Amino acid sequence: MNKQAFLEKVAARNPGQPEFLQAVKEVVECIWDVYENNPIFQDANILERLVEPERVIMFRVPWVSDSGEVNVNRGYRVEFNSAIGPYKGGLRFHPSVNLSILKFLGFEQIFKNALTTLPMGGGKGGSDFNFRGRSDGEIMRFCQSFMTELQRHIGHRTDIPAGDIGVGAREIGYLFGQYKRIRNEFTGVLTGKGLHWGGSLVRPEATGFGVVYFAEEMLKAAGDNLEGKKVAISGFGNVAWGAATKVSELGGKVVTLSGPDGYIYDPDGVQGDKIEYMLMLRASNNDIVAPYAKEFPNASFHPGKRPWEQPVDLALPCATQNELDKKDAEALIKNGCKCVVEGANMPSTCDAVEVFQKAKILYAPGKAANAGGVTTSGLEMSQNYQGIPWQREKVDAELHKIMVRIHDQCLEYGRIDENYTNYVIGANVSGFLKVARAMVEQGVV
Ligand code: NDP
Repeated sequence: MNKQAFLEKVAARNPGQPEFLQAVKEVVECIWDVYENNPIFQDANILERLVEPERVIMFRVPWVSDSGEVNVNRGYRVEFNSAIGPYKGGLRFHPSVNLSILKFLGFEQIFKNALTTLPMGGGKGGSDFNFRGRSDGEIMRFCQSFMTELQRHIGHRTDIPAGDIGVGAREIGYLFGQYKRIRNEFTGVLTGKGLHWGGSLVRPEATGFGVVYFAEEMLKAAGDNLEGKKVAISGFGNVAWGAATKVSELGGKVVTLSGPDGYIYDPDGVQGDKIEYMLMLRASNNDIVAPYAKEFPNASFHPGKRPWEQPVDLALPCATQNELDKKDAEALIKNGCKCVVEGANMPSTCDAVEVFQKAKILYAPGKAANAGGVTTSGLEMSQNYQGIPWQREKVDAELHKIMVRIHDQCLEYGRIDENYTNYVIGANVSGFLKVARAMVEQGVV
């Protein structure tokens, strides 16, 4: 079968799943030559098996609101691929969640986890639950109901979920509490846990830190560094917070943050107390971007717009999928942006990626650049298995080392010539080879 026929077959088998098909296309475009040149992969029909999740679980999540109303959400866990380890990947609670989005995220997770070099397979899950405007008690009851079903399918050697959009420390706490109550066991079945009950230092900020470590490596390989660079960040959540913290620590200046309703531009830089303020707003469950501009008068709020219209040296999209399109990419390039590093999963549309690649700027896909989160989850699992928590410096040093290693793998497979590395090819080929070899060795399962 040729590449086009393969993609058409996948599209026909997965109607109404545009995000999943977008993710599959990106990987297939990158690895097709490697696939064609390796008859052992073709004989084992690796690609067709790889795009089919090992298991998809969908379930009802009923819960009672404070006013006594009975609500029903839909819960999911996509256990995509366990060739190199137990399923590992976050849970997302957001009204936009559907099977297509979770399959795209689970599929990406397979290659990302392989890049970390830790033994973790790929999975993803979540629900269309909207925490906005919900009380703490409602969020707890929702998490308990969600886990009441999910607990049948997960375990510390089987499937170890973590957080993602809408699932932070609070939700992980409620989910873990319910798991422990039903199963009567205290294990590392979730990562992102509280520090005093099995969590790892650095896990909350790890994804953002990793993104910036990766950006630093890209700049270094190009003979540059972060010092004095102007940086646009989108989002205002967990990943954006870690990235903003590390950028200012390494001498860069973050000038934007954003939410679904617009972005703020702060010419003085988002740093120090401002990052603390951002955390406080985030914990409030309310609108978070607009009040920032009221609190810090030099900052301006740009409703309905995206940060990519600002002239910056680096752009770190850290909010959500497809949040940076062709027009945004063209604006970034026109204004002199030299480096785009994805904190979110698939934040750039295919057209936007094409613009970056044509302009030959430094561009790294999320599956390589944001792997710091799952890496540190892997380190949390190691600490749980050992029963010994590590010092902050040790976790951070391991994270840093692994991000450098991921960057090296991208160079190994994506170096086109002395002046240009295609990080998308590098990440996909490197991740694919590990998973494909493991699948071949394990037979047709
Ligand atoms: P959070 O929920 O903590 O933050 C997401 C942020 O993005 C929020 O500020 C949210 O605003 C904002 N946002 C949502 N939609 C839009 C939009 N259309 N335009 C602009 N801003 C928007 O999630 P995380 O930080 O955990 O995750 C962000 C991204 O990073 C996701 O793609 C996730 O899959 C990815 N990721 C996360 C990892 C982790 O460890 N958490 C690991 C690897 C990847 P609001 O709250 O107002 O909706």
